[in-house]
Amino acid sequence: MPTTRDYYEVLGVAKTADAEEIKRSYRRLAMKYHPDRNPGDAEAEAKFKEAAAAYEVLADPEKRKLYDQYGHDGLRQAQGPAAHDFSRMNVEDIFSMFNDIFGGGGGGQGGFGGGGGRRVARGYDLETEVELSLEEVDKGVERDVEFTRLDVCDTCTGSGAKKGSAPIKCPTCGGQGKVQQTGFGGMFRMVTACPACRGRGQVIKDFCDACKGKGRTPRKRKISVKIPPGVSDGQAVRVAGEGEPPPQELSPGGEGMRGDLHVGIRVKEHELFQRDDDNLVLDMPISFAQAALGAEVDVPTLNGKSKLTIPKGTQAGTAFRIEDEGLPNLRSGRKGDLIVGVRVEVPKKMTKAQEKLLREYAASEDQAVLPETQGFWKKVKDMMNG
Ligand SMILES: [Zn+2]
Ligand SMILES: [Zn+2]
Repeated sequence: MPTTRDYYEVLGVAKTADAEEIKRSYRRLAMKYHPDRNPGDAEAEAKFKEAAAAYEVLADPEKRKLYDQYGHDGLRQAQGPAAHDFSRMNVEDIFSMFNDIFGGGGGGQGGFGGGGGRRVARGYDLETEVELSLEEVDKGVERDVEFTRLDVCDTCTGSGAKKGSAPIKCPTCGGQGKVQQTGFGGMFRMVTACPACRGRGQVIKDFCDACKGKGRTPRKRKISVKIPPGVSDGQAVRVAGEGEPPPQELSPGGEGMRGDLHVGIRVKEHELFQRDDDNLVLDMPISFAQAALGAEVDVPTLNGKSKLTIPKGTQAGTAFRIEDEGLPNLRSGRKGDLIVGVRVEVPKKMTKAQEKLLREYAASEDQAVLPETQGFWKKVKDMMNG
């Protein structure tokens, strides 16, 4: 049954989420609820399909707009190709529809991949995350990442059978891997994969103690990952072949292709600079006198400092550009600029001498200013006292 649950809620994102967030969230859910990872779990499969339905709508700007305005009804009444009924589709089809977001290539699913007509069992992709400073984004960095993946069980080399025992012929299907089922009072006969052995023709009688028959055990792994300069928050670096080996159903011994590891990038906020693509933006205070008279000032950059000439008569909010002090472009390596927006600060405290000068300045402009503080409050007091 198609879902009527709120699509944003399904993906766990805010209504304001951008395309990248939606994609990331869907990818996470799809990995989590993929039926291969939750065998026999109908609820997981339903969640998997629900997420796919939500993603199909929210990833498409037009459908999303329609949905935002009119909700589920809007989508049902919309012209054009109807939304897919994901509840009726099989899982591999759903994955191939969204292949691009699982890194293209073989996709993120465990299954069969590889080109040229040769079918090679392929393992799952995994995701992990690293947090970088802007300085690391600028220079690029090599990071150790630690993650857990399911690897072939050493004890049973993936068979899932207890040492000294071996899988036996499936009693349900007699080793055929297929069973015939009849439906509608015998009107149809269907051949389906044997539910007892899930099509393998073999079942395990005595489970391996180490993996409880799964043929896979979780193992920690640490690798060093090179992160190129110029990456952005939300991007991911793909490390080919560091995911899981093919699932046990496809390749008990793990032969075939490992999935990939996706290292998601988070960029920490910087206390001085904000990022605008390849440019950095700095909000810099200058004094009233510097703005009025002009000055040569030191501007902090990611790598030290740079000189900037503030011309005479600079207004608050003026932006200056210091070339090549931004971040490198991920593809071209070309450096962006540092944009310096100046904020004119009004002195909160002045010495007597400074205040005297400023009063003279105000008088020269014939501007009305408040009288000296002390005198002002004294007058107020006198007035109140009658
Ligand atoms: Zn084992
Ligand atoms: Zn069987």
